Amino acid sequence: MKHEANRTVDVLVIGGGNAALCAALVAREAGASVLLLEAAPRAWRGGNSSHTRNLRCMHDAPQDVLTEVYPEEEFWQDLKKVTGGITDEKLARLAIRESSTCRDWMRKHGVHFQPSLSGTLHLSRTNAFFMGGGKALVNAYYRSAEALGVRIRYDAPVDRLELDNGTFCAAWVGTERIAARACVMASGGFESNREWLREAWGQNADGEWPADNFAIRGTRFNRGVLLKFMMEAGADMVGDPSQSHCVAVDARAPLYDGGICTRIDCVSLGIVVNRHAQRFYDEGEDFWPKRYAIWGRLVAQQPGQVGYSIIDAKASGRFMPPVFPGAQADTLEGLARQLGLDEAAFVRTVRDYNAACRVGRFDHTVLDDCHTEGLAPAKTHWALPIDTPPFRGYALKPGITFTYLGLKVNERSAVHFGGRPSHNLFVAGEMMAGNVLGKGYTAGVGMTIGTAFGRLAGAHAAAAALQQGVEHAAA
Ligand SMILES: Cc1cc2nc3c(=O)[nH]c(=O)nc-3n(C[C@H](O)[C@H](O)[C@H](O)COP(=O)(O)OP(=O)(O)OC[C@H]3O[C@@H](n4cnc5c(N)ncnc54)[C@H](O)[C@@H]3O)c2cc1C
Repeated sequence: MKHEANRTVDVLVIGGGNAALCAALVAREAGASVLLLEAAPRAWRGGNSSHTRNLRCMHDAPQDVLTEVYPEEEFWQDLKKVTGGITDEKLARLAIRESSTCRDWMRKHGVHFQPSLSGTLHLSRTNAFFMGGGKALVNAYYRSAEALGVRIRYDAPVDRLELDNGTFCAAWVGTERIAARACVMASGGFESNREWLREAWGQNADGEWPADNFAIRGTRFNRGVLLKFMMEAGADMVGDPSQSHCVAVDARAPLYDGGICTRIDCVSLGIVVNRHAQRFYDEGEDFWPKRYAIWGRLVAQQPGQVGYSIIDAKASGRFMPPVFPGAQADTLEGLARQLGLDEAAFVRTVRDYNAACRVGRFDHTVLDDCHTEGLAPAKTHWALPIDTPPFRGYALKPGITFTYLGLKVNERSAVHFGGRPSHNLFVAGEMMAGNVLGKGYTAGVGMTIGTAFGRLAGAHAAAAALQQGVEHAAA
């Protein structure tokens, strides 16, 4: 059996994304020795964080890249609304307040910000965008961590912990035991564990396993190994395993790491049909940033877990185009053929929709008065007839972003066993996001939670480790 160097590490950080790096940096700044274990090889380091673009920040006055104001109360109300109240107010407000001050610290570690991109998400007031995206952010954090003396190991998937009555003793990577005085777990959700997704989503009435047809939008390394281990070790859990952030992506998206550019953002500008060429939901229910995260689930509920987003020439230039061009034709019949849909059924669906459109003043920036009448399901806004060639269509499938099941924490981000917080085992990021985000989503809050609780967990782990070190030296 090999052993990690002779000296005991103060703080062991498990994971290599935003939450882990924030914890490692803060623990090191507090004077602790830190070892970070990343399951991925170096080239794939950074987890889902490397796919992100922004974080949501409260601010009481315009601040560098953020316009107007976004006060604590408004952020809290937004969170309360999207979660339907399934959130812990104390922890949520803690993350919100942290978001007002974290950017100076982030800059210190090499993260740069840029004004919000224009496009389908209107976020210049609420979200600070990372220059170069999440990949640049994690690269900056790795550089800073290395410069500060954080030891980093890649290809180091932890498969279990050694615990003693709620106290962390060591982590195991295969046959290697790595002891530390304190530990922060930040190894993401279980979104890339197909078997667990299958279990959570079950089988539908047609005998299909919907999860078999999901694309994983982010890393392949978030397999929920430690989540499952902690569940079985009796840790207190939060969140529903069947809940996930799931969007409609291009059906040609790769199985892993398709990231942001495979999202299809023209749903509200046209109609969506299933493989029987039937519409199944109101495409114009609300603004796209508030609705995009329900379309993964809606498509997952359709036969074969496929949908087809259909637009005409009028939609061009009104949405961020996906990376792959869509199918294109000058006639509806031609488009149906290209998409493999029944021509007659497809043309009927489009004609019925066109006939039901009551066009008022089209305005994609407000909930306008263009709607359908006498059609089920209705399209309640932005309903314009699909009548101007070329017609375009994108095949869709569900793309899972992250899962909601996590570990229960307190304001110190400590893991709980039977209601009692551990004194040296902490957790951050997606592994505990369910405390704040029981369901639903509002753009940028994943990185807000990871940054806030990563920094908290790192600070408390360092304090626990250094205190233990002092006691050990005095004994
Ligand atoms: C395409 C996409 C776009 C997104 N855009 C945004 C956005 O713009 N803003 C936003 O706020 N959120 C966004 N999110 C959500 C965001 O990615 C997460 O909320 C956030 O990255 C979670 O950070 P984390 O550190 O907890 O997890 P991750 O960044 O996923 O890191 C988990 C890490 O743990 C490692 N790991 C896993 N298992 C083990 C193990 N057993 N041992 C050791 N290491 C392990 C992984 O390799 C990985 O490095 C997006 C997600 C995706 C997929």
